[in-house]
Amino acid sequence: MQPLEKGVLKFSHCGRDIYCSLIPELCPVCGQSAVNSWKLEDAPVSIPSPFLNGHWEKCSFVLKPTAGLFGEYDGCSDLHVGISSTSGFVFHYNETGIHRDDLGWEQCVSVPLVPPDNYVLFNQWDCYLQEFASLDKWLSLRYNEEDHNCYTFALQFINTIRTLQEKPPLTKKYFTERFVLPRTRRVSKYMTIFREVSQNDFYIVEKH
Ligand SMILES: [Zn+2]
Repeated sequence: MQPLEKGVLKFSHCGRDIYCSLIPELCPVCGQSAVNSWKLEDAPVSIPSPFLNGHWEKCSFVLKPTAGLFGEYDGCSDLHVGISSTSGFVFHYNETGIHRDDLGWEQCVSVPLVPPDNYVLFNQWDCYLQEFASLDKWLSLRYNEEDHNCYTFALQFINTIRTLQEKPPLTKKYFTERFVLPRTRRVSKYMTIFREVSQNDFYIVEKH
């Protein structure tokens, strides 16, 4: 099985979208040459993996299954979130307190939080994050699975930064709907395609 991070290819033939890891010589549906009949709009495109390495993504909100990898993710088990530093660490909060990981977040969904040209914020980021993570409210005994959890930590940090920038805070509902759900939906779609391609070499969808 190819690695989940590799992405898949898509081409169109005889009215279908065909996903694969290698473009075949012949169309798996009609048996005609897959190559010769290519029109520009049918030419292969690469579907990149939605996963990023949380230790490489700087100043981001990062999300992964609490246990295991997305490859085994069934779509409904718990997710865990954190905030990445500029130096490869992911800060996150759970029932045993604050953690600063340099391993374990290699396969994440990531929401960048700092525009690339904001050098001032980028340079201060690790200080802010370190300071925020040291607050008493992130002691393990304050943890509550319902309303004082990994998501509380990440969102309150995001809002602390927004306050410094004189921007209004974001609600959990807004942040989730605007930034998280579009990405997790993309993960679900990608995982469906990826599993089919891994098992059957092709995933074939009728075009509407
Ligand atoms: Zn065909």
